[in-house]
Amino acid sequence: MAGDSSSCGGGGGGCGANCSSASAADDAPEKQLGRISIATGAGASCGKCGGGAVVAVAGGVGLCGECLRAHLFGKFKLAVTSNAMVRPTDFVLLAFSGGPASRVALQFIHEMRSKAIESWDASNSQALPVFGMGAAFVDESILSSKPRHEVELAIEDIKSIVSSLLPADKAMHIAPLEDVFSTESVDGEGRLRELVGMVDDDTGREDFLRCLRMLALQKIALENGYTKIMLGSCASAIACHVLSATVKGQGYSLPADVQYVDTRWEVPVVIPLRDCLAQELTLLCELDRLKTLQLLDKPCSSINSLVASFVARLREENPSREHTIVRTAQKLKPFSFNKFSANGYHDFLPSRLRPKFQNVDSDESTFSEVLCIICRSPFSESELQKLESAKHEAQKKTDLYTAYCCQSCHFQILPGGVNLYDHFFSLLPKVWTERVDTASARHSSLRDQIDDYLLEDDDDGN
Ligand SMILES: [Zn+2]
Ligand SMILES: [Zn+2]
Repeated sequence: MAGDSSSCGGGGGGCGANCSSASAADDAPEKQLGRISIATGAGASCGKCGGGAVVAVAGGVGLCGECLRAHLFGKFKLAVTSNAMVRPTDFVLLAFSGGPASRVALQFIHEMRSKAIESWDASNSQALPVFGMGAAFVDESILSSKPRHEVELAIEDIKSIVSSLLPADKAMHIAPLEDVFSTESVDGEGRLRELVGMVDDDTGREDFLRCLRMLALQKIALENGYTKIMLGSCASAIACHVLSATVKGQGYSLPADVQYVDTRWEVPVVIPLRDCLAQELTLLCELDRLKTLQLLDKPCSSINSLVASFVARLREENPSREHTIVRTAQKLKPFSFNKFSANGYHDFLPSRLRPKFQNVDSDESTFSEVLCIICRSPFSESELQKLESAKHEAQKKTDLYTAYCCQSCHFQILPGGVNLYDHFFSLLPKVWTERVDTASARHSSLRDQIDDYLLEDDDDGN
């Protein structure tokens, strides 16, 4: 719902008549959104303020730079407030890649924070505290072919962008990806290279890196006391994910990835730019002269990049296609971990939003889904069945670890030969395999406890 109503500009709420029918007219031409060239727009003036030259079309209305900005900020703010993404007591870690989406997210969350601080100052500290924030960059250069000095320059740029908004020295975290092994007293670089090298499939390797990147972010957040991780995932990126997940047969777990809120991680993840298109965000960066960087080498042969170029062609035909794809995926039923539980949230919510969270049982926050140890996808019914039988038949730990990998990771990430599994699992970050160890230890200690009651011919004296 928030996705639909946020298609109107402004700070959420005060929208015109256009918006009331938004959900009914998903693909109506007036919903089309796209950038028009400055030349075409030169004659026209902004449909919202009547002033400046039109730079983009949103919801059928030509917008000037100022109004485009307000439109995007409105969507962001609405997503944050109506989903209780950030509480006043939160400490938010923004995952900053240097690209346009995370650059805009950094700008917007910083603005929300500055405004909150202003009103806090004005109200003579009667108001709620103001959330804290920091930014993190995961440096994957060890796996890229970029020369070291280029990477170092880029990191300097990232530091200067972040420090211009977040002056505290402790607010910027630059972590090399190999830090996921930092607690294991091993050569992190070598281990990471070897592990990633074991994944043969291009798509699998990309997806695997995404899992490691999330682990790195979680680690930074946990070690520095952050309570939320904010990603810059925008509608265009999510549209690509929807299609590629479908192609990869990840339909069951897909709904988990397209929601504003994802609490299946130790530190919950939020995506407030879900309703903004990459083109709009790039345009805003150009207009506001927000410096961006593109660090990652673009892979060219994976399913993910094929899908990305397919979506780009769809966009050329019809600029609202990305929104349509995302909205369609949102109709799938989300998981219980895709919302915050009522616990502790009520005090900070505007009263009109409280009913949305009231029907959540507070004990639902400990959800029951079994998650893949690598990608954290929830298991489908058939995967659960396989897991159950594997638990009985497992001869050694590797069998159990294998059973805790979802079908998609099995197919794309696990190495080609079963004889390589032992080695592969021994290289994985321990946090992942330890989850299985803990679960199976709990399972067997439970069995030990009931053994005494179940086995009558047990002669240990009890
Ligand atoms: Zn305007
Ligand atoms: Zn998986």
